[in-house]
Amino acid sequence: MKKKDNAPRIPEFDVAVIGGGSGGYAAARAARGGGASVAVIEGGDEVGGLCILRGCMPTKALLESSHRAHEIRRAREFGIAVAEPRPLPAAILRRKNRHIGEFADYRRGQLEDGDFTFIRGFARFDGRNELALDPVAGARSRHAGKAIPTPRRIRFRRCIIATGSQIAWPDVPGLREAGCLTSDDAISMTRVPGTLIVLGGGSVACELSQHFSRLGSRVTKIQRSPQLLSDMDADLADVLAEQFRSERIRLFTGTRLLRVEKRGRLRRVIFDHGGKRRAVTADEILCALGRRPTIDSLDLGAAGIRTERGAIAVDDSMRTSNPDIFAIGDCNGIIEVVHIAIQQGEIAGRNATDGGNATWDSRLKAHVVFTDPQIAACGATEKELEAEGRPFLAASYPFADHGKSLIHGSTRGFVKILCDPDSGEILGGAIAGPHGGELIHELIAAMHWRGTVAQLAAMPHYHPTLAEILTYPAEELAEKVARG
Ligand SMILES: Cc1cc2nc3c(=O)[nH]c(=O)nc-3n(C[C@H](O)[C@H](O)[C@H](O)COP(=O)(O)OP(=O)(O)OC[C@H]3O[C@@H](n4cnc5c(N)ncnc54)[C@H](O)[C@@H]3O)c2cc1C
Repeated sequence: MKKKDNAPRIPEFDVAVIGGGSGGYAAARAARGGGASVAVIEGGDEVGGLCILRGCMPTKALLESSHRAHEIRRAREFGIAVAEPRPLPAAILRRKNRHIGEFADYRRGQLEDGDFTFIRGFARFDGRNELALDPVAGARSRHAGKAIPTPRRIRFRRCIIATGSQIAWPDVPGLREAGCLTSDDAISMTRVPGTLIVLGGGSVACELSQHFSRLGSRVTKIQRSPQLLSDMDADLADVLAEQFRSERIRLFTGTRLLRVEKRGRLRRVIFDHGGKRRAVTADEILCALGRRPTIDSLDLGAAGIRTERGAIAVDDSMRTSNPDIFAIGDCNGIIEVVHIAIQQGEIAGRNATDGGNATWDSRLKAHVVFTDPQIAACGATEKELEAEGRPFLAASYPFADHGKSLIHGSTRGFVKILCDPDSGEILGGAIAGPHGGELIHELIAAMHWRGTVAQLAAMPHYHPTLAEILTYPAEELAEKVARG
């Protein structure tokens, strides 16, 4: 007699997506749009992903408050008398939490009530086509909007890894023991520290330094690289450094951290600066020294997935070394910004469904730092073109010489365009200045359509606007290209 098999059937999906953040959600939608059966597996305590819960949206909500405090302080310049603004940290936090709650609810609804099977579980590979899942305490899985038990394992034909990133702790003696704040803590603080040391020179460190400074902290920024925002061109970083100094943010660049200590209720950072030992003491330290891909507990080796420098190695089609498995967003370490996680997710979702070979175009990469002035860049930087040995022409124009920015009261910074010397095609551009994060989209649009500086210069621009400033370097370059 045949023995009865009581083992539960392992659910099978065309596509399994690990991680329900912005990249994972985009990947699942694209795969579902291609007709695949899709499971999204989310293992975090909360649903929403980094951008909504602890990244882009909470930081931008907070910055909105501190930037307004700063603008109110400048009111007299514009002929308005007001009292000194007094930040109310608890109210700032409540406003941020209200928005984040709404965004997270919306994302949860998209995941739970969508066309996917939404599984609340922490996944790891158990072979090339199987995942083992640990349920998340108290969380419910859903299929077509209905609660279902979390399976212990699932099988897939193709898988998309979208597990994001986590805070990186560099190996500095005493750093963790001293009780440093991270960006996760900084977005939930109900008080403003009197004095604050910010470690790091990237976007998060710059945005939060200015935020706390404008709320009243005395901020000291200590970083390893010789310039702020080390991936960007130095002229952009200089604008920000000048602004920080004008706001009395102390800057130490080109340092090496030696040690961090707790001294009573204070914290002290000891570092090397130009061969001299220095020490700075403050109420709090904010450690913003970067993030690293969340891949340690995935057991990537079980699925034959290769890593490089701590991230999942992928090709332009987002495929890993296992051709049935893709990796997108922060976990592949290419560029940690959300619209790129989404673009990569859409590409992987399509390729995972039809076995195709759509590729991600790094030509249009972009980055915005939401400081004041905003720093934005798209396409290639001067540094990158020089390193490639690719000839290019560059022209820039200062906001201090532009009518609308004078009226706006924002004259620090400039716009810059880089183009091919023969065809005039725009290769890259940057803006350090008012609304740089919005204005950069004109250059992104031009580059998307492979536009030239002559075409940009010929495009009508309303007067007086901040946007018309882009026509000046475009005209200068168009003339140079025409002269040959
Ligand atoms: C403070 C801060 C500010 C930022 N500001 C900006 C900004 O202004 N603009 C911008 O473009 N970017 C910004 N970023 C970066 C941006 O948030 C990220 O690049 C983006 O959210 C990454 O999306 P993702 O889908 O790759 O990962 P995530 O959104 O992190 O999603 C990963 C998901 O995978 C889940 N997961 C992890 N491991 C497993 C597992 N084994 N099983 C199941 N689930 C798992 C996690 O719980 C998580 O929900 C900011 C980041 C920070 C920290």
